[in-house]
Amino acid sequence: MSAQIIDGKAFAATVRQKVAAKVSELKTAHGITPGLAVVLVGTDPASQVYVRSKGKQTVQVGMNSFEHKLDADTSEDVLLDLIDSLNADPAVHGILVQLPLPGHLDETLVINRIAPEKDVDGFHIANVGLLGTGQKSMVPCTPLGCLLMLRDYHGSLSGKNAVVIGRSNIVGKPMAQLLLNDSCTVTIAHSRTADLPDVVRRADIVVAAVGRPEMVPGDWIKPGATVIDVGINRIDIEDGKTKLVGDVAYESCAAVAGAITPVPGGVGPMTIACLLANTVTACCRINNLTDGEDFLS
Ligand code: NDP
Repeated sequence: MSAQIIDGKAFAATVRQKVAAKVSELKTAHGITPGLAVVLVGTDPASQVYVRSKGKQTVQVGMNSFEHKLDADTSEDVLLDLIDSLNADPAVHGILVQLPLPGHLDETLVINRIAPEKDVDGFHIANVGLLGTGQKSMVPCTPLGCLLMLRDYHGSLSGKNAVVIGRSNIVGKPMAQLLLNDSCTVTIAHSRTADLPDVVRRADIVVAAVGRPEMVPGDWIKPGATVIDVGINRIDIEDGKTKLVGDVAYESCAAVAGAITPVPGGVGPMTIACLLANTVTACCRINNLTDGEDFLS
């Protein structure tokens, strides 16, 4: 194995330290404690785990955590009323509605009800538009985590050929936009892409966000390329046991790549760290403390 392992767990710990330092400064210098509200509708087990983890890490960095757990049959009006009250609450600087929502709730309507400046997931249409036009926005957490790791490893990304596999609104498209904003030459691949192996072989940077276990083999990777594996897939192994794997075949890709993120321990830990960072960013902007926004650099 030749690739350098990009340690997302360690990187996320560094991001959390910077967030905690900024939170402490906001408290002592301005008397402000950033607050993150997380709304969970229903009892989806994976969502419950994420929400618990977000709440725990929010408190660990010194911020206020507000959890709102609603029954699975909560009406849209009740949920929208809750979002309105969080939008108006000065103690809340970030609002996250855990997705997916139960089927009777309109996700687009709900997400677009969040005040854009408190939309720490970056999914509100106003933030999508701002990102798409290269303006200051709230940036979706998973692609932001990938970008921070890429910048840390490469320094400048300018002129690199980047291939993003996957075109979802939450990962693929914002990832491509961020890479474009950093002056990469970006290709977005998807299920209808012709000759995907050939497209991937031209990439200096490959971001795989497909949701298909170990789909990208090592012989698709250009020697020395950087591979960012966003996928989280639980697969069965022997004796009824399971394990987590990404969207790339780790061993074969690591043998060819210059650098690679592992699963687990790569992109995953960065997502919540970036959520905390986004909450601090939102808090700074809401309080007109924008010169303190660059706390991650
Ligand atoms: P989606 O299912 O929304 O999107 C998957 C994308 O992959 C689609 O654009 C689809 O193309 C494309 N795709 C599917 N099959 C192929 C194929 N055979 N060849 C090329 N492209 C294909 O998934 P998400 O973007 O939400 O998530 C992607 C992965 O990232 C999942 O494993 C998910 O668990 C993980 N994830 C990890 C996070 C983290 O914190 N680490 C956070 C969010 C997601 P098309 O549009 O044509 O259908």
